[in-house]
Amino acid sequence: MVYDEVERWRGSARWRRRVRFQLATNPLCRMCAEQGVVASATVVDHVIPHRGDQQLFWFGDLASLCASHHSKDKQQAETKGYTTAIGADGYPTDVQHPFYRAGCAETKRHPGGE
Ligand SMILES: [Zn+2]
Repeated sequence: MVYDEVERWRGSARWRRRVRFQLATNPLCRMCAEQGVVASATVVDHVIPHRGDQQLFWFGDLASLCASHHSKDKQQAETKGYTTAIGADGYPTDVQHPFYRAGCAETKRHPGGE
């Protein structure tokens, strides 16, 4: 039922203004940029999932994303806690990725650098 309310917020002129402003000031996909790719953003997403929280919905940080990142990585991040995107250096772009938790990231990044 709280999501009926979210639908109403999303349909409001106030939200559309916020989206327009976000895309005007941050026109590139944030997640593409992390991978060294320049792509124009078409979707605005809450950095912290608002889950119906009015304060977060209206005042939480927004990220500009391309459509494919919004539908894939973002949902993956919300369900798994991390994304599986790989950056230009061949390492996962998300520091929450299990790769970094396993503690092997440092040795692999600096071979022989003990
Ligand atoms: Zn993207």
